[in-house]
Amino acid sequence: MDFLDSELRGELSALDESAMRRHLRIIESAQDARVELGGRSMLMLSSNNYLGLANHPEVKNAASEAIGRFGVGAGASRLVAGSIAPIHRLEQRIARLERVEAALIFGSGYLANLGAITALVGRGDTIFSDELNHASLIDGCRLSRAELRIYQHGDLDHLKVLLERCSIGGRRLIVTDSVFSMDGDLAPLAGIAEFGRTYGAAVMIDEAHALGVAGPGGAGLAAQLGLEREIDVHMGTLSKALGAYGGYIAGSRTVIDFLINRSRSFIYTTGLAPAIAAAAGAALDIMVAEPERIERLRANAAWLRGRLREAGFNVPTGVTAIIPVIIGDSRKALAMAERLFTRGIYVVAIRPPTVPQGTARLRVTPIASHTRDDLDEALGAFSAVGRELGII
Ligand SMILES: *Cc1c(COP(=O)(O)O)cnc(C)c1O
Repeated sequence: MDFLDSELRGELSALDESAMRRHLRIIESAQDARVELGGRSMLMLSSNNYLGLANHPEVKNAASEAIGRFGVGAGASRLVAGSIAPIHRLEQRIARLERVEAALIFGSGYLANLGAITALVGRGDTIFSDELNHASLIDGCRLSRAELRIYQHGDLDHLKVLLERCSIGGRRLIVTDSVFSMDGDLAPLAGIAEFGRTYGAAVMIDEAHALGVAGPGGAGLAAQLGLEREIDVHMGTLSKALGAYGGYIAGSRTVIDFLINRSRSFIYTTGLAPAIAAAAGAALDIMVAEPERIERLRANAAWLRGRLREAGFNVPTGVTAIIPVIIGDSRKALAMAERLFTRGIYVVAIRPPTVPQGTARLRVTPIASHTRDDLDEALGAFSAVGRELGII
């Protein structure tokens, strides 16, 4: 044990030296526009609670009521101890939202990606994957043992070359984030869907950052582009805009029935807690009933992105709620986050290996419940710290 610890301590100090060590921060309040930390109120700019539903009274009530009726734990895998009603209702609602036949809820978005990819392809099959795909897609690809062809980020020409060159006989799957998690940019879904048809490849998209953000009623990027029917596998999460926890795969009845039978991260894990399913269902209701929340999120993101660009920060143009403020050097990004922190702004520095070398950044995510005063405060702090550190 001493031997293991001393080796690991060595690796941790190497992380320290390269400004790559990560730490947990303890929060003493709900996730909201502001959080309590060490007795201070901080402006939260690093959550994916896009619609501000994680602490919504109706969402919390739905969870409490579900606990009253269904208790806390699901008991076992849904195939073993039975599958509680609130989860089935939620699956039907998600299928309707995504305009597909069926949906299946997993314990998390991570588990949904892992379980879907490893069930759908295996040895002898080929996956075509965007180089900036989320870690959960990457892990699913690796674990599947399928041949992996990685195309340059968003590059349809490169994807085409790889598809044309592929002479392996098995199944083909193109996998991409629809909204990329660290840059907030969009995948060229229309082109990808067309390639799927042309080259006989199934298409799977991860809408984790698109649900509640893009598309009519927050239904996602495929819905925005009218491509629902051309995407074979829709993945989304209950953990971000819906403010709860869990993930889903939506698609044809056949795909979903197959996953129920073959997806290891669905079969060999306990079902989602009833209260969480009920909370996600209530959040979905609010998302549909109050489209002004999505409008507020979009307006907040557009405002803050525009002002940060005007202030001189390196921020790409974009339309989603993910605003990357690119700093480049990890140490500088960390210093910026620390100084913002002392000014009451909670925003984390995202460093390699989460993002490519030399692109360390502050990943800023406004939410629907931030007020203009909140965003003004954030902008003021960014500008002051940016000048102190010679970034702008
Ligand atoms: C967050 C995220 C996931 C994982 O979802 P969880 O529900 O948090 O496990 C998957 N894909 C992308 C693109 C994500 O950003």
